[in-house]
Amino acid sequence: MSIQVIIEKCTGCTLCVKVCPFDAIRMADWPEGRGSASDSRSHKKAFIDLNKCTLCGACKDACKFKAVVLEDKVKPAPNPDLKDYRGIWVFIEQKNGRVQSVSYELLGKAHELAGKLNCQVSSVLIGDKLEDQLDELIFCGADNIYLVEAPELTNFQDEPYTNILVQLVKKYKPEILLCGATNIGRSLISRVAINIKAGLTADCTGLDIDPDKKILLQTRPAFGGNIMATIISPNYRPQMATVRHKVFAPMPADKKRKGKIIRESFDTSLYASRTRLMDIVDEVESTVNLSEADIIVSGGRGMGNHENFKLLEELAHVLGAAVGSSRAAVDSGWMPYSHQVGQTGRTVAPKIYIACGISGQIQHLVGMQSSKIIIAINKDPEAPIFKVATYGIVGDLFQVVPALTQAFKTALRK
Ligand code: FAD
Repeated sequence: MSIQVIIEKCTGCTLCVKVCPFDAIRMADWPEGRGSASDSRSHKKAFIDLNKCTLCGACKDACKFKAVVLEDKVKPAPNPDLKDYRGIWVFIEQKNGRVQSVSYELLGKAHELAGKLNCQVSSVLIGDKLEDQLDELIFCGADNIYLVEAPELTNFQDEPYTNILVQLVKKYKPEILLCGATNIGRSLISRVAINIKAGLTADCTGLDIDPDKKILLQTRPAFGGNIMATIISPNYRPQMATVRHKVFAPMPADKKRKGKIIRESFDTSLYASRTRLMDIVDEVESTVNLSEADIIVSGGRGMGNHENFKLLEELAHVLGAAVGSSRAAVDSGWMPYSHQVGQTGRTVAPKIYIACGISGQIQHLVGMQSSKIIIAINKDPEAPIFKVATYGIVGDLFQVVPALTQAFKTALRK
């Protein structure tokens, strides 16, 4: 909503000033400097202080000269004809010409959802010289691939990628569009959503189809992670969601699957960008990358201090694992944020997750509960972490962890 005074209609009668319950209207000279003591009314006009105005409309109702206008600033988008929209799309993220694993995870989920909607899964791949990636996308769930290749599109850039995806959505009308909640995905898909005036649910941890209404159920933590909210976009299409890396598992590649490649090209003006990519600098990881690690040894407040994390580093070294931590350990300054697992840290899904002195609050669990095997070490037998653990060790981590390190050293002959 916005409010304004049409200066030409305002007679300076001050009625609006009198009715405003928030003291948000004052009379002032118009144009500046023309007012005088003897002619105080004729050149004074009403001005609204937008910091005080609550848009209650009392001034508009009071004004006999229709000089106050209160209007909707943002006009709602017209409802699209929902039946024209069909199929589930996955935006395929590629870096240096390699499809990123989050895209395979989304394809797997899209394939499952498509079974419930009885529709096809399509992927959108933008870049250059990506021919060798197409079969794998089809084996992993894509029925169609919309492929846009050009040298200008080799690396992700916000503007051209947004322009292309918007054009494709307008042309083919998917009912659902999924994208990784990665740096690229977050930047791209919010621009697309604004452009096509569709709803977007970010950072979903669960996706399903409402069996009756056949709409997408998008579940994500809300209110600081205290509740899991299921969000729907019933009136606009496509229904758009981003999902973090490692939340879903990719489907096993099926080499018998067949798919269709639909090549699209656009006027090169669409590929123009106001930014210029200078260089891509890889992050240097001195230890095993948490998101890619097969085994993670993670510590929480039970570790007691920064020094004690050495115990976990020793165990991690023997296992070839990465070291993670709960937010409590990060907030205490014992571990850097880059090691935090959970809702406001990283989402991980290793083969083995060993939680040491971590209670298992929901905000931690959402970041690691997809791990294949969870081993919890906690001295409190009632700790919630044991509810999700495959194996639980009730005991003092300062005894259990060194004993495990020694046992693995012997077993692995290290
Ligand atoms: P605690 O809950 O204090 O648990 C410590 C555990 O250690 C206890 O179970 C105790 O029995 C055990 N213990 C103590 N000593 C020993 C010992 N010697 N041997 C064995 N066990 C021992 N948390 C995250 O982890 N990641 C997030 O991303 C995250 N995001 C959040 C976002 C929001 C908006 C909010 C509100 C919270 C978030 N949190 C997050 C915080 C979360 O709610 C918990 O506070 C946090 O996970 C608790 O960490 P913890 O399990 O290490 O500590």
